[in-house]
Amino acid sequence: MYKIISGKDVSQAVKCRVADEIKALKDEGIEACLAVILVGDDPASRVYVNNKKKACEFCGIRSLEYVLPAETKQEELIELIEKLNADKSVNGILCQLPLPKHLDEKAVLNLIKPEKDVDAFHPENVGHIMIGDFNFLPCTPAGIMEMLRYENISLDGKNCVVIGRSNIVGKPMAMLMLKENATVTICHSRTQNLKEIVSGADVIVAAVGRPNFVTADMVKDGAVIIDVGINRMEDGKLCGDVDFEACKEKASYITPVPGGVGPMTIATLMQNTVTATKIQNSKE
Ligand code: NAD
Repeated sequence: MYKIISGKDVSQAVKCRVADEIKALKDEGIEACLAVILVGDDPASRVYVNNKKKACEFCGIRSLEYVLPAETKQEELIELIEKLNADKSVNGILCQLPLPKHLDEKAVLNLIKPEKDVDAFHPENVGHIMIGDFNFLPCTPAGIMEMLRYENISLDGKNCVVIGRSNIVGKPMAMLMLKENATVTICHSRTQNLKEIVSGADVIVAAVGRPNFVTADMVKDGAVIIDVGINRMEDGKLCGDVDFEACKEKASYITPVPGGVGPMTIATLMQNTVTATKIQNSKE
């Protein structure tokens, strides 16, 4: 019998915790502020930015939104980030990815001050994650760890398989699982015997970006399945990377799409904004 891990419920718990922390800071005269930059008019990015804004409102975080045209020049984006870096009233800066192709994503991310880097993409923060000593957690993997903790799922000694090796999800996910004493395997597009590896997993994290990539024949009985994928189907509906209907019958725990990992990513962003605010006001 499987259990669905509801990202809606767990993220609500995290956001309520953040709202309490924000209130305590306000009582001391400190206001948390998150600046979000969106370049271009990618509809999916627009939805994410709106959801981030709503979460800020819920938590009591002041949010600033900078929507720039798709043809924005690199120098203009740099100028905005430098301005936000210097602004003491701004605690967190987030540049919504992907950026239009003509912009240098790496240069932009490297420019955000590490103490305001609430996405934890700056190389300095990535380095901290590697050594397991960090202030900011990468939002999606940290949201997944929160879900596992919420359900009292221990990773100690477990075989965890992460499918996908992106800097945003796969790699940091593996690091966080390793920190919890899991034995971690990362699979990717060049992995030879993927089915064999995945079918030995106690915990599967799928972050590929392909609908129904994980099928029931890859899943060991009792496995925990975390579906990171967000794929828009022709009928407009969202689906994950996991064949949910078939895989759930073999799983002990499984996350749905939508309503699984997605809301957790945003909740962690809120948590990171509080952390940034505390660090900048020497409360941590
Ligand atoms: P990405 O495109 O950067 O990485 C995809 C990874 O999948 C790559 O590392 C690649 O090696 C691997 N891959 C591709 N084909 C494969 C194959 N045949 N076999 C094994 N591995 C294969 O994507 P990403 O940014 O890591 O995102 C992955 C998915 O997660 C996307 O659907 C994205 O929309 C979603 N996502 C969701 C959230 C959330 O909050 N829920 C956050 C970030 C990303």
